[in-house]
Amino acid sequence: MKSELPCPDCKTSISFDLKMLLSGTSFSCPCCNLKFSLDPGSKPQLTKAVEGFSELQRLNQQASASSSQVMGG
Ligand SMILES: [Zn+2]
Repeated sequence: MKSELPCPDCKTSISFDLKMLLSGTSFSCPCCNLKFSLDPGSKPQLTKAVEGFSELQRLNQQASASSSQVMGG
């Protein structure tokens, strides 16, 4: 899952893969080379956010699937 966040130093938007970040990969700002990686303390919250996002995608897919069915009958 690709995400972006503004660099805390120069505000350049840094694109990163949330799953890779969660697995411990560190990313760096293309502009100022500031490195960022996951703070172990914030991991449970981030994991929860990712799970919530996946659930939302699943619900959206269900909604679009059911809308193609004929209503009533
Ligand atoms: Zn930067």
